[in-house]
Amino acid sequence: MANAAVGDEQRGEDPTVNRLCARVARLLGKKAAMFLPSGIMCNHIAILVHCRPGDEILIAENSHIIQSEGAGAAVLAGASIKGIPAPHGIFSADDVTKAICARKLRSPHSRLIVVEQTNNRGGGSVWPLDIIEQVAEVAQTHQLKIHMDGARLMNAVVATGVSASTFAEPFDSVWLGLSKGLGCPGGAVLAGSKGFISKAWAWKHRLGGAMRQSGILAAAGLYALSHHVAHLAEDHANARVFANRIAKIPGVSLDPSRVQTNLVFFDIERTGLKATDLATQLLNRGIRIGVESEYRFRAVTHRDVDRMAILEAADALAEIILTTQPRKPLFMLNDQHVKSGVPRISGAKTA
Ligand SMILES: *Cc1c(COP(=O)(O)O)cnc(C)c1O
Repeated sequence: MANAAVGDEQRGEDPTVNRLCARVARLLGKKAAMFLPSGIMCNHIAILVHCRPGDEILIAENSHIIQSEGAGAAVLAGASIKGIPAPHGIFSADDVTKAICARKLRSPHSRLIVVEQTNNRGGGSVWPLDIIEQVAEVAQTHQLKIHMDGARLMNAVVATGVSASTFAEPFDSVWLGLSKGLGCPGGAVLAGSKGFISKAWAWKHRLGGAMRQSGILAAAGLYALSHHVAHLAEDHANARVFANRIAKIPGVSLDPSRVQTNLVFFDIERTGLKATDLATQLLNRGIRIGVESEYRFRAVTHRDVDRMAILEAADALAEIILTTQPRKPLFMLNDQHVKSGVPRISGAKTA
């Protein structure tokens, strides 16, 4: 990053940004791409290009666009959103067909279908290619646009062996997040046709997302694409190990077979503990796991957390739950980690 060749990105003169955009466009099989500060801005801009006020977006109910983007589609594009109920965030061609509004004067104008790959709140579920293709066919039949929120697209690629360009092929627009599992300090790249990206540039400027010497950030992206993608497989293996271990703790509910990538959602209601209390106790041991709701956690494995730390986190969870449930029958994990304790690893761990 320190050695990146830079220029004025707003004028298209930052060579490192241009290299990153060309590389991601190639990776996703699209004609053009644009560097942006965040994934949320990629979603906002794609929606702004595809939708006019009064248009409707069809997307899984649990999606990031609905839950975590400050109603940007409504505020910025004047678009309404119909959330499609979908277990694990993956809806079928049938579900989306039923959700499309008939073109009546008084109904919203269904315009855009969005797929979140992988689906975050669905537990990091991968959208299978055949379902994507069926949903894209519905989009084509009804002349809708289709957009991919690819915050974790590379996790889906590594988990399935399907290439990024194959996943991206049916989409009018798609973006790749650099600051999640790929480990960059920031940035995302939005890709599509030349026409789409040239319209997107107007919004990038308007929203204040056109930067100057952002090659410093883009250099991190280029590095991550070369060196961090393969590592995602380790994150996935760590998530499986974590899930399998904590599934044995009395009172912890999860289905380890649902863990496909790097996210592990689990429920602790039957332990009698609240997630926030347990999270505080974990944090005291340097272990940070996100609280989703009263009894629900969202654990994320990533490149800063190695296998030892994963085992430590699972064992700490078991220890805290068991010691705060004295009346429950004594329980121990199969091996000796709980009893003997693995060496504590110093330094902050974020999840
Ligand atoms: C994190 C995330 C985003 C937003 O990305 P930022 O770079 O944090 O703005 C969008 N969609 C999903 C599914 C995400 O997980």
